[in-house]
Amino acid sequence: MPGILVALGGNALQRAGDDGSWTAARKQVRSTVPVLAEVARGGRELVLTHGNGPQVGALLRQNELASAEVASRPLDVLGAETQGQVGYLIQSELSPALRRAKVDRMVLTVISRTEVSARDPAFRHPTKPVGRYYTEDESRAFRKRFGWAMGFDGARGGWRRLVPSPRPVRWLEGQAVRRLLEAGLGTGWIPVVSGGGGIPVVRRANGVYEGVEAVIDKDLAASLVARELGLGTLAIVTDVPGAAASFGKRGERWLREISRKELEDLFRRGEFGEGSMAPKVEAGLQFLRGGGREFVITDIPSLPRALRGEAGTRVR
Ligand code: ADP
Ligand code: MG
Repeated sequence: MPGILVALGGNALQRAGDDGSWTAARKQVRSTVPVLAEVARGGRELVLTHGNGPQVGALLRQNELASAEVASRPLDVLGAETQGQVGYLIQSELSPALRRAKVDRMVLTVISRTEVSARDPAFRHPTKPVGRYYTEDESRAFRKRFGWAMGFDGARGGWRRLVPSPRPVRWLEGQAVRRLLEAGLGTGWIPVVSGGGGIPVVRRANGVYEGVEAVIDKDLAASLVARELGLGTLAIVTDVPGAAASFGKRGERWLREISRKELEDLFRRGEFGEGSMAPKVEAGLQFLRGGGREFVITDIPSLPRALRGEAGTRVR
């Protein structure tokens, strides 16, 4: 049976409003892993990926506060750091959950780079907000000092740094992970890959890959990973039970089992929030067009049922 990629959203790793401590992160992941162990018990190949917004935000803030004493690291390095910390967390919490569920599989984090094109138009139009909110004075100062693009968030009344969000083109560690899965006959390993959408790199003329100041959408990167590994199911796990039409409006309709065509139509009509649900749906459509069999959007508690077609939004 072709395998599953589960893409964990911020909520699976960090609860809105918690204190951002490591203890809180462990507690949150500990509450998530039994469901992943249950999925792993089904015996299909399982690959995990995750978002990293809050974790990168914390590292950016640490950089900012410490810059007088410790040289700041660029964004690609922070991306690598978050893959390390979140991968470590998942390894530490999922491994004992697997043992308890009597599943004999090993969890392994692979620091992953995602190639993007240096000519991607996103580099001329930074759109992805990262880090904390700034006042107008701070915003002006940082724009001048670091050349940052800044954007005003009307809803929260503050300024944020904007970085480019180029499209993922290739996952550089894909071949290695494919071989790993083959060596484990598919079910010996649970790789954690492409965290935060992968570290964005561009290929220079000399063939060397170089990190760039950008962030890659984790849902689009998840779709790429699932296609490169030839997996059958892409499951995007977030903080809502599925995707809805007329979301938050009168006549809101949660989507259950729907056709690709119907999802495409809703996507084209702009039913899904920019930067939140829209990239998930786009990721799923790309995956299905690229030969994927099944696309699911759901939350952690509903994941096992969603994979049986009893919850969530599912397209096959
Ligand atoms: P994640 O961290 O899991 O990527 P996001 O916040 O980016 O989560 O995306 C999930 C959010 O998308 C939901 O909490 C919801 O507020 C929002 N959203 C926007 N449009 C829709 C829609 N049509 N149906 C469901 N949720 C939507
Ligand atoms: Mg998101």
